[in-house]
Amino acid sequence: MTQYKINELFETIQGEGAFTGQPSIFIRLQGCPVECSWCDTKHTWEIELKDEVAKEVMLAKSQETSQWANFSIEQILALISERGYQAKHIVITGGEPCMVDLTPLCQAFETLGYSTQIETSGTFEIKASKNCWVTVSPKINMRGGYPILNSAMLRANEIKHPVATEQHVNDLKKLLSVHKIVNTPIYLQPISQKPRATELAITTCIANNWRLSVQVHKYLGIE
Ligand code: SF4
Repeated sequence: MTQYKINELFETIQGEGAFTGQPSIFIRLQGCPVECSWCDTKHTWEIELKDEVAKEVMLAKSQETSQWANFSIEQILALISERGYQAKHIVITGGEPCMVDLTPLCQAFETLGYSTQIETSGTFEIKASKNCWVTVSPKINMRGGYPILNSAMLRANEIKHPVATEQHVNDLKKLLSVHKIVNTPIYLQPISQKPRATELAITTCIANNWRLSVQVHKYLGIE
């Protein structure tokens, strides 16, 4: 039976990209080897057996920790039903969720009428349902040394790129050119809400007819 290592599961408003404002159920999976220096979920990087806890313990966490719990698809569906969540959009994130096959999980939700979305760094093969909305946030030249995969760039429904410097913009332009990405919507996301990064993102979006993604949840102070 497929099991997913879940670090967090909660209902909130999607604050990034095309689905901004959409009530969503976030499933955060444990594990990521990409090592982005500015990562705001570093507690999800390692999958340590010592951090495996009971489902109730993981669900009761009041702060970010590296603790995770194994869930089957049936257990995830049951949990969402028990909690009475109303959102009909599922966001599978991490960590790097594409380290595992997400197809059966997406399909289980879609059968029940949910829409699904995954957020990935583009460094692993994307195994998801055909209808799943794929957000690739390409993490270029990170310490982990994982290249961005052509298959991930071509599968992306949107490309959401974190920026703080001109170098980040240039890296993205080079990536789009190498992978011949033409029509996929591009979102620039200022790193850590820094004013200079935000200004750079705004001017670059206007110059290139790209879109701005400002992590609305962080401005609102919600999860
Ligand atoms: S890919 Fe995502 S989770 Fe992994 S290090 Fe980068 S920002 Fe963090």
